Amino acid sequence: MTKRILRQKNLTIENNGLSSLSVNVFITGQGSPKIAVINGLHGLERTGAYLMPKLLGELKLKSGTVAFIPFANPSSAERNTRLTPEDNQDLNRIFPGNKNGTLSFRLAAALFDYLKDFDVVIDIHTFPKMDMPIIGVFFANIENGLRQKLLYVLKAFNPDFIWKLDIEKGETAKAGSLIEALLKIGVLAFSVETPDVEIINENQERRFVKGVQNLIEVLLKPESFNTQRKILIIARQPSLATSTGFFVPKKTIFQKVKKGEVVGKIINLNGFETETVRATAAGPIVFILKKTFVFTGERVAIVGNIVE
Ligand SMILES: [Zn+2]
Repeated sequence: MTKRILRQKNLTIENNGLSSLSVNVFITGQGSPKIAVINGLHGLERTGAYLMPKLLGELKLKSGTVAFIPFANPSSAERNTRLTPEDNQDLNRIFPGNKNGTLSFRLAAALFDYLKDFDVVIDIHTFPKMDMPIIGVFFANIENGLRQKLLYVLKAFNPDFIWKLDIEKGETAKAGSLIEALLKIGVLAFSVETPDVEIINENQERRFVKGVQNLIEVLLKPESFNTQRKILIIARQPSLATSTGFFVPKKTIFQKVKKGEVVGKIINLNGFETETVRATAAGPIVFILKKTFVFTGERVAIVGNIVE
């Protein structure tokens, strides 16, 4: 165990007036900058919680506060679901929440109220069964000054790719996220997409820890940062399973493909025929499913269409 001093705080949310639910927050360090690392808005995603003790053990904190929330949606984590089991809501689509709503809305309101005082909020998510690098999500529908600052902190965090999320250009299904709500009140916030605990490798774990370390240093000493750092900014172009069956990947992450190139095959259940799955755009492979069983229409690979 680490010797670092860890203070604990509980956010308590009343549940139906009959019981209450407690979100654990672990805090280290003091003063500015204030950074929050949150995981588990979707309870079945656990990589962020796995990375927190590593971060705590390895961060060199000269000045600043880091708060960790390993499981932001406790009942969904307990039942291993994406939605909050009590009310079937996707917690990351209803921010800033409502103190008088059902559990998810109250949980969102409590998290939002706590996180609004931070300088930077990092919200970790996981794509199940996907082989993928560390991806920073750049929410682009914000005023220009904030947008520049957000891109600056994202580059300091140094993910393998920056995925530009433009909810006005078709990605409206992502509205109501924690990140969007925080950015609307001027808090710098971004999501990080990480592989599953079973898939994440040591390089990626190191990259994450180094990213947070670098972010803190840049916030303390902005003039020290090399703004010339080149990180590909991408839009996502998914390829979907054409049938139900077994998906077998034919490409690996970072490999560059042409539009229409084969990224994998599906051995379907209608006579065990083999079908090809093709890239829907040109660019590097940023996500690809491990060999696994899929249903028709499921996302099996994503190419990063380079936008900047
Ligand atoms: Zn998620």
